[in-house]
Amino acid sequence: MTAVEPPITETPARTVPAEAEVAIVGAGFSGLAMSIKLSALGIDDHVVLERGQKAGGTWWFNTYPGCGCDVPSHLYSFSFAPNPDWTRTYSRQPEIEAYLQRVADDFGVTPKLRLGTTVTGAEWDEENSRWVVETSGGDVRARVLVSAAGALSDPKTPDIEGIETFKGHMFHSAQWDHDYDVAGKRIAVIGTGASAIQFVPASAPAVAQMHVFQRTAPWIMPHTDRPISKRERRLYKRFPALQKLVRGGIYSARELLVLGFVKQPRLMKVVERLARKHMDSQISDPELRRKVEPGYTIGCKRILPSNKWYPALGRDNVELVTDGVTEVREHSIVTVGGEEVEVDAIIFGTGFAVTDMPVAKYLRGRGGRTLDEHWKGSPRAHLGTTVPGFPNLFMLLGPNTGLGHSSMVYMIESQVAYVIDALKAMRRRGAATAEVKAEAVRDFVEDLDAKMQDTVWNTGCSSWYLDDTGRNATLWPDWTFAFRRRAARFDESEYEIAAGRGA
Ligand code: NAP
Repeated sequence: MTAVEPPITETPARTVPAEAEVAIVGAGFSGLAMSIKLSALGIDDHVVLERGQKAGGTWWFNTYPGCGCDVPSHLYSFSFAPNPDWTRTYSRQPEIEAYLQRVADDFGVTPKLRLGTTVTGAEWDEENSRWVVETSGGDVRARVLVSAAGALSDPKTPDIEGIETFKGHMFHSAQWDHDYDVAGKRIAVIGTGASAIQFVPASAPAVAQMHVFQRTAPWIMPHTDRPISKRERRLYKRFPALQKLVRGGIYSARELLVLGFVKQPRLMKVVERLARKHMDSQISDPELRRKVEPGYTIGCKRILPSNKWYPALGRDNVELVTDGVTEVREHSIVTVGGEEVEVDAIIFGTGFAVTDMPVAKYLRGRGGRTLDEHWKGSPRAHLGTTVPGFPNLFMLLGPNTGLGHSSMVYMIESQVAYVIDALKAMRRRGAATAEVKAEAVRDFVEDLDAKMQDTVWNTGCSSWYLDDTGRNATLWPDWTFAFRRRAARFDESEYEIAAGRGA
């Protein structure tokens, strides 16, 4: 008789701490800034949960050809970690990713990161005043939860009839398949947004044929990207104040755009003239010129800078298709006009889930209610950060903190300062919980919605800025320094601050 071995039950290795003062979801710009500032405050008992294999967030995930930032390098970096070594005035993805990983090392927060760790849920434990954060590496019980998951992190692909029957290759720009060689292939690109205008010019020379399916023509401005010379870099290194001055100049110049976006949309006509001149100078084919003419006020959707987009569309092996897509078959795409285009691969440049952010589905506050249920299709948060019914939850880059004209890093630093001030206030009061009052959110959102009324984003275009109810739940409708001023101080009168277990 042979002995029966007991079955081996494998329990996945715990990779996260069981308890933490603060749990941060995401190790992109916002999660890293939060971790750095918490460490500076002496809150070392925190953990950063990141599903990517390295830090960097969107700058680790997006590796498509030509990927870069359309905000100038000197402004698209932390104010507390200037980088005199940027090699271009507008950085490319590998340099930004390396910058973020270096900053994490330099500020000593790399050990706080738990990489390859996916957060699958988080629920408020009423009795113990703790967030129970469920991750692929085990649960973490944290007093404070900071959602730094990013607004543009979950790729969206369209639900086109027959798409599941396609026998070729398919991927989204944010999940670029580098093992698939596009050289010599017939490629369909769906979408003409910020990502497509970068990867189409970068990939078009190699492919046999590219069909770019455009639903809405974007407004394109000339790009002022150029290399930063070694001499300039030496100067920035030697005189950090000079780099600060340049950063300040860029910030102020960009802030002037708020006049056109928010205060006086008719001023956008000036910008529109510049964009049209760019179009005319780069396109000689009248048919293509007709197809790329946008049908809405410039700025209503994100303005895209590129000197390569129109020339790419003008290539012999590139076709701009303005007829909608109705169906995908085994080896082809069928347009509304009935044309069938045979392709080997489909690349989606179709953007991200923004106002329907997945994080809202798995965050459960008081009574087990999800953020999604609370928002009912229209995200609202005080200063884009706190939500009633979700005590001790702080969102970075939450609703209405987005920008169409300047650096998100500025908004992130403003919000991080707010969270730090909140934690200081809680500590001072010996509080277990801080929960924003519903009236505070109501007043904040009423003011915001009123300011939104006359902005360029309300001039009649459909954009990913708008939520299911048609409300702009994405952008900040004012000067960015006005946001910073409001977020500079945590106003305790706007919160229910309570003592309790776990204080
Ligand atoms: P996006 O700007 O949202 O563009 C998505 C594109 O896909 C649009 O042209 C959209 O057309 C089209 N589309 C979506 N669903 C479609 C469907 N069902 N059928 C046909 N076309 C469809 O996405 P993205 O280009 O990935 O950029 C997203 C955001 O990421 C940007 O706005 C920007 O904030 C950020 N980003 C920044 C940089 C940077 O340089 N800093 C670079 C890349 C991305 P419609 O316009 O008609 O909706």
